[in-house]
Amino acid sequence: MTSRKKIMPTNQYRNNDKAIGIGNPFWDMSEQNGLAGIVAGLENDLLSTPSGHQFVNFSCCSYLNLDSHPRVIEGAIDAVRRYGVLDHCIARSRVQLPVLKELEESLGELFQADVLSGVSASSISGGLLPLIASGHLGNGVRPLMIFDKHAHVSLAAAKPACADETEVVTCNYHDLEFIKDCCKKYQRVCYVVDGSDSLGGYAPVKELAELQDKYGLMVFYDDSHSISAYGERGIGYVRSHSPALNENTVMVVTLNKAFGTSGAAILLNGYSQPMLRLVERFGGGLNYSQNLNTAAIGASLASAEIHRTAELPMLQKKLYDNIALFDSLIPTEQSGNTYPIRLVPMSDETVISEGRQVIEAGFYVSPVFFPIVAKGTAGLRVMMRAGQTEDQIRRLCKILAEVRAPQ
Ligand SMILES: *Cc1c(COP(=O)(O)O)cnc(C)c1O
Repeated sequence: MTSRKKIMPTNQYRNNDKAIGIGNPFWDMSEQNGLAGIVAGLENDLLSTPSGHQFVNFSCCSYLNLDSHPRVIEGAIDAVRRYGVLDHCIARSRVQLPVLKELEESLGELFQADVLSGVSASSISGGLLPLIASGHLGNGVRPLMIFDKHAHVSLAAAKPACADETEVVTCNYHDLEFIKDCCKKYQRVCYVVDGSDSLGGYAPVKELAELQDKYGLMVFYDDSHSISAYGERGIGYVRSHSPALNENTVMVVTLNKAFGTSGAAILLNGYSQPMLRLVERFGGGLNYSQNLNTAAIGASLASAEIHRTAELPMLQKKLYDNIALFDSLIPTEQSGNTYPIRLVPMSDETVISEGRQVIEAGFYVSPVFFPIVAKGTAGLRVMMRAGQTEDQIRRLCKILAEVRAPQ
């Protein structure tokens, strides 16, 4: 008998028992089958393990292959040489290197917004969302925070912190009726959603813009998945479609996917300088954690320059052509859209062994299963990039068709 108190969790917004209990056995299985925990070096877009197995990565989000672009590599090296320091560790609100400002101005011009950079979209969102929840980034009124059920995990992770500042609810996927009802009931509402999401869907940007106009709805878009890969100068899905570029639209994008470098950016419009300072000072990791280092900044400056040239639409076209070729060989539910991710459905029971056959044939695609996706919707996730060759894509599709043939 002990009189010491046992803690009972509320698990209102997260539940590790559940996530780990269900997810970890699949991760273990993936690793045992050589589909996770892989160590491999990259050369000429080919991955090689120490034992000599070579494979093409069809599970990488560098959709335009800018991560190994010679100008991006040179940009990183040049900036470190030019500034002579990798990261002069001090809070950015106290001292920042001129090169950080240079990058934010460059991205600001490129994406037509006031830009603050951070080390990752996850860390930025973790700091920014609670600031919105408390009404400080906004009009001073605490909003009801509506998180889309399929909002990226980095957004969902901010729920407990937001819930300490305001009311938090989760809505069904793109549930406009629910959002509208909340707009009628609450003084202020903020909806948190991916611009383009891992289900291959796109946020209902136009319908949301109407609610923004009518009710002053605030929308927090994470457009990490379509920045660079989509739109003129890589402006992304949301900004290609939304007329609302004002203080009711907050946007976060990673620079680590199609942009091809490291870091992330907050894109704001219509906020005053004091408000931008507030974000800089109180946006969590933005101030108390490290800044983008000089190599990442130099790489990003170079990538931003590429975004301004005719090379960007060329790379985008190459990506779309590769996606179209894949679609012509393996139809999926995502066929026809410009989103670079395809899910080739497999059963929960066999998805790992099928993934294993595919990597043995020289292509890495990631098996996805609960809790990454809902139970019963397992599959091999294929990610297309501009740098994959026609021959590689044809060979991948052949093996994919073979492994799923028995079904
Ligand atoms: C990949 C991704 C992230 C993670 O970006 P980091 O910069 O690596 O933290 C966040 N949100 C969405 C929607 C993503 O697709």
